[in-house]
Amino acid sequence: MTGTSWPGESRAPGTTAASGSGGAILPAVGPEGAPAFPGPTGNRLTVLSGPSGVGKSTVVAELRRAHPEVWLSVSVTTRRPRPGETHGVEYFFVDDKEFDRLAASGELLEWAEFAGNRYGTPRGPVLDRLAAGVPTLLEIDLQGARQVRAAMPEALLVFLAPPTWEELEKRLRGRGTEPEEVIARRLAAGRIEMAAECEFDLTLVNTSVKEVCRRLIALLADAPEASSPGRSPS
Ligand code: ADP
Ligand code: 5GP
Repeated sequence: MTGTSWPGESRAPGTTAASGSGGAILPAVGPEGAPAFPGPTGNRLTVLSGPSGVGKSTVVAELRRAHPEVWLSVSVTTRRPRPGETHGVEYFFVDDKEFDRLAASGELLEWAEFAGNRYGTPRGPVLDRLAAGVPTLLEIDLQGARQVRAAMPEALLVFLAPPTWEELEKRLRGRGTEPEEVIARRLAAGRIEMAAECEFDLTLVNTSVKEVCRRLIALLADAPEASSPGRSPS
């Protein structure tokens, strides 16, 4: 693979995003970059994190089905596709060399290693959507959420929690997509993620996918009552 092109992305890496005929400029950001939020339209970025198996992908799939107006960032990863996953839909699947190139050239807003694979958020498409006022959602791990917090302090960080630890294990095993050794690594990472819940602006407990989606939509639409801090069973 010689390069990863993000759909709708025509800017050179590391350049600024221009919006509209007036050319409102949003500075480029990254783990080490300057804060560049909120965008010109006052929109905000929402980040959804939580332990592997809690139901993030399920929630996001339901959200995309019911609310196509929300834009979900498609991450790049070195993980192999699971059955049914398509390049450019769930992820951009790349090899180590291409990931190295993307990270080194500043094309990733944040990136992290998780359970033996690397994952990152393409920078340009996120900045473009924010500049255009599109409700924008990232589904990323704790390390990525911390990087976004540092680069974009106005971003809203939402933690998705399982009803119980036992239920998390059950969901992760029940999914049947990873061998036991990978499940163990993901559960170990999950314990660390659960301990970092307090770093997030609020928690939604994934009891009902539909209820979590309802709350998330309210958050993305910036309803003040939806973003009251603390835990919220869904
Ligand atoms: P993640 O993306 O957080 O790793 P997934 O979305 O793949 O998690 O969900 C893990 C498993 O849990 C899947 O089999 C999914 O169908 C199931 N699941 C997700 N949400 C719920 C829920 N609210 N109740 C019961 N099972 C759920
Ligand atoms: P999975 O392999 O189950 O799809 O994802 C594993 C973990 O990687 C999940 O916690 C998911 O949120 C996280 N992840 C997915 N994309 C990104 C990304 O772009 N950046 C970071 N930091 N984590 C990501």
